Amino acid sequence: MRIARFAIGDQVRYGVVDDAQAGRGEGGGAVAEIDGHPFGTDEVKLTGASYPLADVRLLAPVLPSKVVAIGRNYADHARETGSEPPAEPLIFLKPSTAVIGPGDPIVRPAQLSERVDFEGELAVVFGRLCRDVPAARVPEVIFGYTCANDVTARDLQVSDGQWARAKGFDTFCPLGPWIETGLDPADVELTTTVNGEVKQHARTSLLMHDITTLVSYVTAVMTLLPGDVLLTGTPAGIGPLVAGDQVTVQIEGIGSLTNPVTDPG
Ligand code: MG
Repeated sequence: MRIARFAIGDQVRYGVVDDAQAGRGEGGGAVAEIDGHPFGTDEVKLTGASYPLADVRLLAPVLPSKVVAIGRNYADHARETGSEPPAEPLIFLKPSTAVIGPGDPIVRPAQLSERVDFEGELAVVFGRLCRDVPAARVPEVIFGYTCANDVTARDLQVSDGQWARAKGFDTFCPLGPWIETGLDPADVELTTTVNGEVKQHARTSLLMHDITTLVSYVTAVMTLLPGDVLLTGTPAGIGPLVAGDQVTVQIEGIGSLTNPVTDPG
């Protein structure tokens, strides 16, 4: 099931995207409106209203209380940054205010950073409040998966040491286009393109620390709330974005997340 958050007129709703139609080209498919929101419940209730996808604007599929992210979780990316892959997961946070949706512009903080990079990543969306989740119970707390771009001011990441500024600017966490609840994330293809040119191409089977390990590790530290998001790390091929670029993160079994890049107006 594909769960979207969308705007129709000035109303914001959650909905179920018609699987049979989704991905069949521009404007195909429809979205069936959900009564309320889909988190923390065992089944979603539909209102009966349905809209053509072409008539709605897809928003970030979730408004998390926090975005937990994992650094250097693909060996080839760790090495391209001059680091060895860490023995334990490396955790950092992105503020909820960095989240944007499909089609929203990534705004480069041009006054503060000379190098803003894309990082295509598989994102986990949580459905339940949870803490200290043992490996065997991790599937119970995961709601689904979406595409993410862990946009990073690379020069500030290096100069600051702490990553809050480099990872935390407004618009630095595109999510979408929707949450796929039925995905097996163990071995799916992840591709990042800039202006149609492939920059990152990997499979999630190359994750150093798998999703079960990451969820147990993170929830030993902090409580996760329904709608919280975990970014699982980026593979090799990171590179800069400039104004006018279009960056797309595509994940097999989920879909594509595309954002334009701008400088502050
Ligand atoms: Mg990252």
